[in-house]
Amino acid sequence: MAILITGGAGFIGSHTCVALLEADYDIVVVDNFSNSEPEALRRVMEITGKSFKVYAFDLLNEKDLETVFIENHIEAVIHFAGLKAVGESVAIPLSYYQNNITSTVILCEVMKKFNVKNLVFSSSATVYGIPEQNPISEDANLWAMNPYGRTKLMIEEILRDLYQSDQSWSIALLRYFNPIGAHESGMIGENPQGTPNNIMPYVTQVAIGKLRELKVFGNNYPTIDGTGVRDYIHVVDLAHGHLMALEKICGQTGIEAYNLGTGKGYSVLELISTFEKISGVKIPYRIVERRPGDSAVSFADPSKAERELGWAAKKGLAEMCADSWRWQSKNPKGYEELKGMKALL
Ligand code: NAD
Ligand code: UDP
Repeated sequence: MAILITGGAGFIGSHTCVALLEADYDIVVVDNFSNSEPEALRRVMEITGKSFKVYAFDLLNEKDLETVFIENHIEAVIHFAGLKAVGESVAIPLSYYQNNITSTVILCEVMKKFNVKNLVFSSSATVYGIPEQNPISEDANLWAMNPYGRTKLMIEEILRDLYQSDQSWSIALLRYFNPIGAHESGMIGENPQGTPNNIMPYVTQVAIGKLRELKVFGNNYPTIDGTGVRDYIHVVDLAHGHLMALEKICGQTGIEAYNLGTGKGYSVLELISTFEKISGVKIPYRIVERRPGDSAVSFADPSKAERELGWAAKKGLAEMCADSWRWQSKNPKGYEELKGMKALL
């Protein structure tokens, strides 16, 4: 019996592969490496001392996906594969609908065909739009601010329809808050292509001198210091949340959404000062205009995950900054210098 991990070479996927292997699960990874490198998976094998099958293809290829189910005894799927850049989703919405939604429909069709009905889906706190109140609980209003958010919201609805049509499915919709940090070995971490959109990889790239300064998007929000507040969560804690969700869904049927966050919010300036203290590196920054579509504050009420999955985040902001910094300083170019590996697959 194996767990299929789509998008397993990506930031959250690679850490979840480690968590599953360390818990003695067999895994199979499908990734088209559109936003990742095979080297990440080689390092997962090195960290865990375990090997697993890797299939390099696009999830839109239904026949290839069927082959995975024919060649392996798949028990459940953790579905990370998807495009995730908000700005890009506004520029090329059809690619986002095709890549994220169509591929999920194909995945579910194939799962149904092979009678595999356990699914953990990567949703996002973006489904809360600009939240009306904090902390945000799972029953808050849902709405999308952009095509990326709409893909998450639509997929959640598609999966609810699927469950309504066949109540032998068991589905967890995991709504991540702001994943940062990296495996404590510094061997795997976030590896954005081009200039990062998210704050932590931007900060670490400023710290190694690849970028000149951080632009802080607005300092006139109604928050502790005027800058945006987010619920940053360590990616290793997040990976562990997938393990707990997997264990939960494999023993029952139903569909449930869970917030995966710490329940604590930190401002941009708090994040910068914690990072500076931990790394000993000064982060030059400049206040600029607010980024359109940003909410002032977003942090989770994670109590449902604690109650029902037995999961709670353990790592604090200092550890997140330390681990992000270790990953970046050990790998100033990310996995870049190993791009040639792709050709080997
Ligand atoms: P990532 O880009 O690092 O990982 C996604 C992986 O999926 C990549 O390895 C990519 O190559 C692969 N992929 C994309 N489309 C594919 C396709 N059609 N077929 C096969 N492989 C494909 O992203 P991540 O940060 O690890 O995020 C994983 C999931 O979590 C995504 O669905 C993302 O939307 C969601 N999410 C991420 C965040 C975040 O801040 N990182 C927050 C909330 C939700
Ligand atoms: N942010 C910033 N400069 C950047 C990137 C982000 O000031 O270069 C701020 C952003 O306005 C938000 C916080 O950092 O308040 C987290 O942003 P990120 O894009 O990482 O996550 P999201 O906005 O999706 O929660």
